[in-house]
Amino acid sequence: AKKAGRNRHVVYQVELENEAKNRLVIQNALKKALHADQLSLYYQPQLTADGQMFGAEALLRWHDPELGFVSPAEFIPIAEESGLIHALGDWVLQEALAQLKGWLAKGLPFAGHLSINVSPWQFALPNFVEHLESMIRIGDVDPAMITLELTETGILVDVEDTIKKFKRLRSLGIQIAMDDFGTGYSSLAYLRDLPIDILKIDKAFIDELQSSDSSPLTESMIAIGRNMDLHVVAEGVEYDRQAIRLKKLGCTIYQGYLFAKPMSVYDFEQWLAARR
Ligand code: C2E
Ligand code: CA
Ligand code: CA
Ligand code: CA
Repeated sequence: AKKAGRNRHVVYQVELENEAKNRLVIQNALKKALHADQLSLYYQPQLTADGQMFGAEALLRWHDPELGFVSPAEFIPIAEESGLIHALGDWVLQEALAQLKGWLAKGLPFAGHLSINVSPWQFALPNFVEHLESMIRIGDVDPAMITLELTETGILVDVEDTIKKFKRLRSLGIQIAMDDFGTGYSSLAYLRDLPIDILKIDKAFIDELQSSDSSPLTESMIAIGRNMDLHVVAEGVEYDRQAIRLKKLGCTIYQGYLFAKPMSVYDFEQWLAARR
C-alpha cells in the first residue's frame, strides 16, 4: 500500500510538472502571437426572437504554428496570471473597434451592439474607464454601439468600485452585460444596485432546457431579468426545443449554433451582406 501511495504521488508530481511546463509554453507562445499576426476575432450574432440583429459578440481566436488552435478558455486564464491580459485586451478592443468602423464604412447592415469580453483584470485597473474612452475616441466609433461583457466574479471583487465605473460607462452610452450569469457567487443581493443592461444566462443552464423537463433555475433567472427590465440573452442555444422553451419563458435574445456560429471576419461580412 505504501508503494502504491508513493507511485500515485510520483504520477501526481509528473502531472503537476507537465501542467506547469504547458503553461509556460503557452505563455511564451502567446507573447509572440501578439506581434506575429496569429490572433483574430470571430463574431457571433445575437438575434431577437423575430430574427432581428441585436448585436454580435467578438470572440478571440489564436492559431499558433506549432500548437495549432488554442482555445481562449485555455489561454485567457494563463494570460491573466502572467499579466499579458492587458496587452491582449487592448488588442481585442482596437481590433474590434476598427472592424466595426470598417463594416459601417462599407455600408454593411451591422445593427445593434458590438459586445466585447473584458477580463476582471482589465476592469480592475483604476484608469479602466478613461483608457477605454480614449480607445473608443481614437477608434472613432459611437460608444452607444459598444457593450462590455463582464463576469459576475469580476464584477463583485469590489462592488463599490464596480458601481462607480458602471455609472461612468453608462454615462458614455456604453452598455454592460453580466456574463455567465448563474455560475459565479450569486450576486442576487447586488443585482439591484448594479446598473446593468443585459443578463447573459450561461450555456450550462441553456443545456438544461434540452436535457430535462424541469428547469427551475433557468426559469427563475429569466424571470429575474425580465422583472428587472433587462435584456436577457441565452448563450449556447443549439436545439429547437431550447429556443421554443426560451421563447415561452420570455427570453428576448438568442445566441448559439442553432442560429449562427462564431464567424471569421470574412464569413461575418458575407452574413451581414446577405441580410441586406
Ligand atoms: P463566453 O464569454 O461565455 O463565450 C461563449 C462561448 O460559447 C464561446 O466560446 C462561444 O464560441 C461558445 N458558443 C456560442 N454558442 C455556442 C453553442 O451553441 N454551442 C457551444 N457548444 N458553444 C457555443 P469560445 O469562443 O471558445 O470562448 C470561451 C471563453 O473565452 C468565453 O466564454 C470568454 O470567457 C473567453 N473569451 C473569448 N474571447 C475573449 C476575449 O476577447 N477577452 C476575454 N477576456 N475573454 C474572452
Ligand atoms: Ca461573453
Ligand atoms: Ca459562458
Ligand atoms: Ca464568459
